[in-house]
Amino acid sequence: MLDSPTSEPESTFVCDCDERVRSACAGEPFYGEHEGKRYCVLHFPGEEKSADFEKAIQRKLENKDFNFRGVWFPDDVSFATFRIETRADFSRAYFAGRADFVAAEFNEEAIFVSARFAQQTFFLAPRSETQRILNTLFLTKSILALSLFVAMPTSRSALLRSSQFSC
Ligand SMILES: [Zn+2]
Repeated sequence: MLDSPTSEPESTFVCDCDERVRSACAGEPFYGEHEGKRYCVLHFPGEEKSADFEKAIQRKLENKDFNFRGVWFPDDVSFATFRIETRADFSRAYFAGRADFVAAEFNEEAIFVSARFAQQTFFLAPRSETQRILNTLFLTKSILALSLFVAMPTSRSALLRSSQFSC
């Protein structure tokens, strides 16, 4: 198939990310090619996308869109003290830098199934009724090997494996 990005309308672009995570990048244009696959800026795996990625993330946050399925985070990321009123989905997301969720308030489901954290990750357990982590799942063995939980999440349905706790 011929590849002619200049003549391709953005609306017809379909990201080559796993179809299970494709809902996260609906409407995103083509960004770059990696190992023969064509990705949007959210799913493109590479640290060089940093500045463009930041803009795309800001757009998502302004739209209160917390669907980050499969998103490849190139830098340190902080959702510390964020108040998130909608479902937050980080399934299959990859965090190349440190991820900070200290005192983030998840008022709906917070999902981290098969998310991968390359660096230290910080979560702080809910300390008041307004700070809740519901139905949070930490499933993949490799996810949390380097993770540091400042305090133990108290959600009944949280499953934690291979994790370190400093509490
Ligand atoms: Zn994508």
